[in-house]
Amino acid sequence: MPTIFTRIINGEIPCHKIAENDQFLAFLDINPVAEGHTLVIPKKEVDYLFNLDDETYTGLMLFAKRIAKALPAAVPCLRVGVTVIGLEVPHTHVHLVPLNSMQDINFSKPKLNPGQEALITVAEKIRKVLV
Ligand code: 5GP
Repeated sequence: MPTIFTRIINGEIPCHKIAENDQFLAFLDINPVAEGHTLVIPKKEVDYLFNLDDETYTGLMLFAKRIAKALPAAVPCLRVGVTVIGLEVPHTHVHLVPLNSMQDINFSKPKLNPGQEALITVAEKIRKVLV
């Protein structure tokens, strides 16, 4: 059975897309820990980051870097935190989280529930500053 992220890649489930190419996709986390929380995934469905082949692994990180470099211009922050957890969705994903404090990347605290309008607005802002 395909993962929820494969279903997003295939367009069966909507997402707030940030960027895409033939191998990778970046989109907003539906339950962010901070505003602008973005997920970056390979289109290849592999559960665990460190089981990716080297080319996909490095490509994923370079794709994530491009998004991370742009994020602060859209969502003011001290820096962009990066984490990989994967306990919920068995499809490799890199979390990019705009940070102003350690609490902004605390996955144990209650998630934000921004609503569709706020997600649409922040996704537009990020897309605009991507180069
Ligand atoms: P992890 O697997 O790293 O523990 O967390 C999975 C992340 O994916 C969570 O932050 C969760 O909010 C996000 N997520 C789960 N399902 C969906 C979905 O259908 N759409 C989006 N955009 N994010 C999702």
